[in-house]
Amino acid sequence: MFNNYSKKIKKAYDKISEADNIVVGVGSGLSAAGGVNYADEKFFKEHYPQYAKLGYHNVSEVMGVFWTFLNKDNACKYWGFWSHHINEVRYKTPALKPYISLYNILKDKNYYIISTNVDYQLEKAGFKQEKIFEPQGQYSQFQCIVPCSNDVYYNEKYIKSMIKNKVDDYTISSDDIPYCPKCGEFLIQNLRCDNKFVEGENYKNYNKYKEFLKDSVDKNTVFLELGVGYNTPTIIRFPFEQYCHVYPNSTLIRMNLNQASIPEGINNGISIDNDLNQSLKDMLDLI
Ligand SMILES: [Zn+2]
Repeated sequence: MFNNYSKKIKKAYDKISEADNIVVGVGSGLSAAGGVNYADEKFFKEHYPQYAKLGYHNVSEVMGVFWTFLNKDNACKYWGFWSHHINEVRYKTPALKPYISLYNILKDKNYYIISTNVDYQLEKAGFKQEKIFEPQGQYSQFQCIVPCSNDVYYNEKYIKSMIKNKVDDYTISSDDIPYCPKCGEFLIQNLRCDNKFVEGENYKNYNKYKEFLKDSVDKNTVFLELGVGYNTPTIIRFPFEQYCHVYPNSTLIRMNLNQASIPEGINNGISIDNDLNQSLKDMLDLI
């Protein structure tokens, strides 16, 4: 293990440069490092002032209230929040700095990405969709609440209409409540929250990701983990540790503010516990 920050950045960069394959894991910490931090009160007050006025402190808190409790009585307020949130995070926010740095570090390398984020930041920064496996859904998609089919629906026109016609800061017009074109029940965000989640479109790259992992077994492989904490550790964090136990020539580079520790027994672990925006910028400066 390397203790000095600059030495670790250099070592990580060298490992990435020399790697045959790079398996990249991205979590919410990468977006938070770019400013879209669901736990940050300042970001919340600036972008969600109407909810701050009600006494909420951050995005996670309001999101918890409106998570999956869509029904006939609250539909206009439910979509009041979600249309605002999806519009802010998915449609209004441009590519964030840490993602742009990451793209510039990796663009000529042989990599595959798994991401639990649903905000489209990787694609905005330039990564091609066919090189990203995003198992948790997309803010830009709706699905049937039942669901009566595996179809998903691109939602930009729904979201824009909700915002344009809203009754007040918290309430959309009942004319804009989205319904399934097949069965007439509610449409809802296509996000993994229970067993009604429609995986369909989100799993189109699952086999490519698995193939890349298989191809990486005996190669000089870097597992580069960015901003992955303990919200859903069974998707990226724990599997990356397991692969690094088994793949003989692998290196785990774990970059995250506060949650970058690596358990003993993993060879070549590089833990960088620092602001990710700064770390990626420092790494990019080495090119
Ligand atoms: Zn339906």
